[in-house]
Amino acid sequence: MSQTTTGLPSRDQVQSEYKWHVEDIYANEDLWQTDFAKVKDSLPQILQYKETLAQSAGKLLSCLKLRDDINITAGKLFAYARLHRDEDTANAKYQSLVGKTEGLLAEASAATSFIEPEILAIPDEILAAFRRDQSLAEYSFYFDNLTRLKQHVLSPAEEEILSRSVEATQASETTFNMLAHADMKFPEIAGEDGKIIALSEGRYRSLIMSTDRRVRKDAFTGLFGTYNAFRNTFAATLSGNVKKNMFYARTRKYNSTLESALSDGNIPVSVYENLVATINKNLAPLHRYVALKKKALNLDSIHMYDLYTPLAKEVKFNIAYSDGLKLVRDGLAPLGPEYSEILNKGLTSGWIDVYENKGKQTGAYCWGVYGVHPFVLLNYNNRLEDVSTLAHEMGHAIHSYYSQATQPYATSQYTIFTAEVASTTNEILLNDFLLKTTTDKQKKLYLINQYLEMVRTTVYRQTMFAEFEKSIYDKAESGETLTADLLDEMWHDLNAKYYGPEIVVDTEIDIEWARIPHFYWNFYVYQYVTGYAAATTLAENMLNESDGAQQRYIGFLKSGGSDYPINILKKAGVDMSTPQPIELTLNKFSNMLDELEKLLFSS
Ligand SMILES: [Zn+2]
Repeated sequence: MSQTTTGLPSRDQVQSEYKWHVEDIYANEDLWQTDFAKVKDSLPQILQYKETLAQSAGKLLSCLKLRDDINITAGKLFAYARLHRDEDTANAKYQSLVGKTEGLLAEASAATSFIEPEILAIPDEILAAFRRDQSLAEYSFYFDNLTRLKQHVLSPAEEEILSRSVEATQASETTFNMLAHADMKFPEIAGEDGKIIALSEGRYRSLIMSTDRRVRKDAFTGLFGTYNAFRNTFAATLSGNVKKNMFYARTRKYNSTLESALSDGNIPVSVYENLVATINKNLAPLHRYVALKKKALNLDSIHMYDLYTPLAKEVKFNIAYSDGLKLVRDGLAPLGPEYSEILNKGLTSGWIDVYENKGKQTGAYCWGVYGVHPFVLLNYNNRLEDVSTLAHEMGHAIHSYYSQATQPYATSQYTIFTAEVASTTNEILLNDFLLKTTTDKQKKLYLINQYLEMVRTTVYRQTMFAEFEKSIYDKAESGETLTADLLDEMWHDLNAKYYGPEIVVDTEIDIEWARIPHFYWNFYVYQYVTGYAAATTLAENMLNESDGAQQRYIGFLKSGGSDYPINILKKAGVDMSTPQPIELTLNKFSNMLDELEKLLFSS
């Protein structure tokens, strides 16, 4: 079944074996309506617990249990509406169910909002006495995590002022988004076929990979020239955002903005510092990659605009869905028989919505529905990356499956820090399998190029972002002003350091900091690197069949949100506070450079 060229089928033309079974949540809409009414009726009920939670362990327990029931059922209601809507986003009936559920979720969140402040107000010794009651055991980590940050919670009056300030302090980020994504106009350039096209952020991403050097250079100059014309405004929005985060961190009595940003997941600042320091000690492989690229592309000098162009010819993989399934099953075999069995169950019992149809939500995602099963949306189109996406989303799905089957609701949700570990491990295993089984030289080169670019852009580039981000906060926190000149200089120096002696750091790149939306996400990007390094280590352990690696990995998938992410990973065999996972990742990168060199230069 291929739907690449001609018109897309309508939803009802798609064969049922390629559709997910939303009816596993509710067999019909009447059952949905019944549950909707049930949640609505529970809201006045939960409000009756207000100002009673300090009375007894029993009261506290029944309130938390009722909240769990509300959340579980509301989660099913929302999933049913959203999954159906995503099958055809133009379907008015499900649009209205989504709207209705969003209203209910907001009501539920308002009705339960008294619970956490009230628990925090229970005197320590009384809460400790309650917690000795075994019936509260499943909430043990929840209490630890909630009370851990007690010292950063202010008085009710101060909290109210802070919550009212949020809208006003968003202005820098809003201005950045408006300028970069609505108002700025990029110049026109001649594309590969000579036709004039208007440059945009979206088009830049493919133009910078062009094998025609003139095209990628024009795109590069056009894009950064435009950002540069607004350099002082961008410096003001970035600096305004830094000041906003500093304000909240200081008001909440943190030692630094970094410490405050990492406190959500209880990630030690040393994990962040270790990452930046370890990458700094291991820049040599990236320098070697740049030199190899220069040689392979036969360039006199290699410029910033040459970095994204591939070393291998584009190879068309045409992989039917049934073959994609086989690749994923074979590629994930190192995860062991138990994992394979669940994977098989997921692939064959209505978890996945496979093909594109008219109006279907684009992209891919996984949605775990507690008490039912995970759902995976794909838009499978026979490309290699579609197979990778399937492996990735099944990683999320099986992580959800294990966590929800093992954990009570209170600890079933995993954090962002561990979420992408489960999906990336699968992608890495699949890629490894493809590399081992591909004999065609062009295909092999293509796969190696994909891998190297992945590590360059995920591990090295995102750490460079993380280093920049830490430096600008260090400067701002010690009273320096973040001017456009200062930011340009810092960005230039980082590029020179990361890409090494062969690269010509064109001055146009100096303004690149201005276009990175992640710098408005408050110390977010380092998790791409820690996640990738953790996944590489876990995959490597299983490929080398090191003792108990599979069982430890399954243990990780089962742990959901029952502990802090760093502890969960440690138990799985990866210690993110040490250099080892990052070093292992870069060793693998170096080995791949050896392979590339062999394929390209030895006959
Ligand atoms: Zn993902």
